[in-house]
Parts: sequence; C-alpha cells; structure tokens
Amino acid sequence: MAVQQIDIKEPLLKRIGSLADEGGIRTFVVGGYVRDLLLGKTVTDIDIVAVGNGMEFGKSVARMMGRSNLVLFENFGTAMLQLEDEAGMPGLKLEFVGARKESYNKSSRKPLVEVGTLEDDLARRDFTVNAIAVSLNAADFGTVIDPFHGQGALEERVLRTPLDPGVTFDDDPLRIMRAFRFASQLDFVIAPSVFQAAQSMGERLKIVSQERISDEFLKILSSPKPSVGLKLMFDAGVIKVVFPEVALLAGVDQRRDYHHKDVFLHTLKVLDNISEGTTNVWLRMAALLHDIAKPKTKAFKEGIGWTFHGHEELGARMVKPIFRRMKLPLEHVGYVEKLVRLHLRPMALVDGEVTDSAVRRLLFDAGEDIDDLMTLCRSDITSKNPRLVEQVRTNYDLVVQKMQEVEEKDHWRTWQPPVKGEEIMAVCGLQPSKMVGILKSAITEAILDGVIPNEHDAALEYLLSVKEDVMGGAP
Ligand code: ATP
Ligand code: MG
Repeated sequence: MAVQQIDIKEPLLKRIGSLADEGGIRTFVVGGYVRDLLLGKTVTDIDIVAVGNGMEFGKSVARMMGRSNLVLFENFGTAMLQLEDEAGMPGLKLEFVGARKESYNKSSRKPLVEVGTLEDDLARRDFTVNAIAVSLNAADFGTVIDPFHGQGALEERVLRTPLDPGVTFDDDPLRIMRAFRFASQLDFVIAPSVFQAAQSMGERLKIVSQERISDEFLKILSSPKPSVGLKLMFDAGVIKVVFPEVALLAGVDQRRDYHHKDVFLHTLKVLDNISEGTTNVWLRMAALLHDIAKPKTKAFKEGIGWTFHGHEELGARMVKPIFRRMKLPLEHVGYVEKLVRLHLRPMALVDGEVTDSAVRRLLFDAGEDIDDLMTLCRSDITSKNPRLVEQVRTNYDLVVQKMQEVEEKDHWRTWQPPVKGEEIMAVCGLQPSKMVGILKSAITEAILDGVIPNEHDAALEYLLSVKEDVMGGAP
C-alpha cells in the first residue's frame, strides 16, 4: 500500500529540515535512502535534494554541524559530508544536490544541467523506485512525493523508468547497467519495455566511462546471486559490450560429465556457489574468470572429445589485460591470477593419488590463499546429477583433511627453506646473486619432493652435496 507519510527516525534529518526552513529552501531525501527505508533496510548513504543550490545548502549544513570535511564536486554541483559513528568509524554519508533538469548533449556527452523543480529532478532519475522523495521541511516533514508511483513498483519488485525507457537510457546509458545491478542486488524484475530498451540500446554503453561501468559490474558481482545480473546482461546482449571474454564462454561445450554443458552456465553456477560462502568480490572475480581461456584452448581429440589443455595458465595470463581494460584495481591481479592458475590442482588430487609431496607442493604454491583456492574448487563441482556432486565433494573433503594434516605438521603456507640466503652465500662463497636463488630452489624442490626432510642439517648437507653440480652447470 502506498503511504503518504514516512516516519523518519534520523534526528539529523529534522535538523537539516529546520535549517532549510530558515533559508526558505525546500529540501527532500530521495533515491536509495527512501527506497531502502521502504524495503525495511538500514541505510547509511543519504541523498538530499535542495530546490536551489545543492552545494551551498551542503555548506550551510556543514557549518551548522561545525564540520570542516565537506567535499565539493564542482563539476557535478554536488557536495558530500562523511560523518562518523560513536566508535569513530564511517557512519552516515550525506550527499547534497540541487534539483535539476538534465539532458545530455549528444555530441559532447557532457550533461547539460539546469536548475529544475523537484518533479524535474525525479523525472531524470534512473528508476521509479529511486524517484520517491520525502520532505524534510517542518511544515510537511515526512510527506511522500511519489509522482511516478515508485511505491507500487517497490511492492511489485519491478524496475520501471520514470520516463519512456528509451529516453531514460539515451540520457545516460549507464542506467542500462544499473538496471541489471538493481535487479541482481534487490532481486527485482526489469519491466519488459525497459528490458527491450536495454537490449536495443546496449551498444551505447560504449560512450560511458569504464570506471562507471566497472563500478556497477562489481556491484553485480557483489550481489547475493550474481548470476541474476550476468544472465540479464547476457540476454540483453550487453555482456559482449562490457565483458567480451565472458560472452565467449557461452556455447563452449565441456567434456567432463560432472560439468554443465555450457561454460557460461557452468561459470554462473560456480559464481553462485561461491557467493553463498564469501563476500570477497575478488574471489568471486576468480570464480568468474576460472575457465575464461576455455574458448581459446578448445580442441577436439579423437576418442576423448573436447579438451582445454592449458586453459588455467592461459586464463591466468588473461587476468591482467582484463583488469587493465576494465580499470579494476591492479593490486588484486596477482591474487586472481594465482587462483585461476591453480584452480585445477586440488581436483587433480581428488582424482589421483593423494601423495604427501603433491599436497605439500600445492600448499607451497598457494601459500596464504590456499583456503580461497579450496573454496573456489569446491564451488567448481557442478552437475545436474546431485549424487555425482555429493560423491565428488566427499572425495574432495578427504583431500582437505589430508591438507590440514600436512599443513599442521610443517606450516607450508608460510614456509621458508630451513637454510637461509646468508648461509648459502657463506657456505658457497657467493655474493648476493641469482645463483643464491637457484640453490635455494634446489633445496626447496628436494624438500617438497620428500628427497630430504624439512630440517636444517639435512638441507645443509644436501646443499653441500649438490652445490658443485648446480653451480658448475650454470651458464
Ligand atoms: P546504492 O547506494 O545502494 O548503490 P542508490 O540508489 O543510492 O543505491 P546511488 O548510485 O547512490 O544509488 O545514487 C543515488 C540516487 O541517485 C539513485 O537512487 C538515483 O535516484 C540517482 N541516480 C544515481 N545515478 C543515476 C544515474 N546514472 N541516472 C539517474 N539517476 C541516478
Ligand atoms: Mg546511494
């Protein structure tokens, strides 16, 4: 049922309303804050519209609160004020904007912003559920202004645009991505006419900055069931514009019978599986990319069927170019690369014989990321046959148990060779050089292979016995 009045509990908003009254300004909360309040969620980001100058109003609110950390975005005519909670952690975040009429100049892509009424402002928002305003002025504090029936849409859980979807998307094509994002985040459906417009205008996302697109993409990846957003992107033909490598996964057949037929559908399943257990968006990204090189490595082998030899290594090498193009933070490249590179290794143990040495090697190669790697692998077990999944998972859990035993004994994930660089240099009469690393690797290999025990004296003895050969064989 649509309400005319909302009980706004946040005392600060009453104070902001009184301040607006003093200046004769109309002011409202809008957007995500109102939407999430009506959905019964707690919200810390508050969007405030002032009919007039939003930046100036932001300044007077900051002054009233004695705050000096107001950030002005002159280009957008907005202001942001980050507050703290009692523990000093980031708390409420206030965003001020002046009500505006906006349309994009098609040739320059820069929005033409004009001062407008509240109704103008609501009309240029992305979805009707985000276009509900609530007054903050004392005379009608809490009164809902909902010209586009956003409350009805919230109840129906549907995304509609305030204007004709073609107009809304043409003004800012990012809204196409936002439709998929909100559908995935809130578990809403996209109205058919809105979906059709997204489908026919998807190519226009090419004019939107990569940062804005990637922001929405990461929000899809962070949503409870990311396959919802990715499937919509796929069905609308938008995924080939935004993420062509993922689009290519569709239609690639798999060989193994415990995998789904199509790599795209399999990947979505893995992504949803992993999302049940982790909110780490980079681990989710690794799930999305784990089979990314399958289309490139696909080959038909007589008597075997389709193979994808080396897809884990080639996939790992595709991670960095993808991060660069999508302007994603490069600090996470190494982690995602590693998971993609190693994603088959735990399963190889499940399928084969679990030797101590194979387990040691995997723990050593994965290091601190071993738990995430195991989470990824467990999520990678998909099949339409639940009995098969159960069986593979049982074998897999045995491997995990074995790994725990081996890890507890020697702490491989943080392991260092028992003979350090300084000692290698002293014993072999070397200056710091590449050879020190080569000798260190020789010791490491011998321990991992179980040739010698993981002990200092044995390692030193081994070093002495091989140093001539290793150093003599060096170029
Ligand atoms: P959340 O903050 O939970 O991600 P939100 O709805 O608050 O969701 P924001 O990106 O913070 O989303 O934007 C705040 C409000 O500004 C939106 O609710 C919407 O009304 C409006 N808005 C934001 N971006 C756009 C856009 N590209 N086109 C039209 N309106 C937009
Ligand atoms: Mg917000």
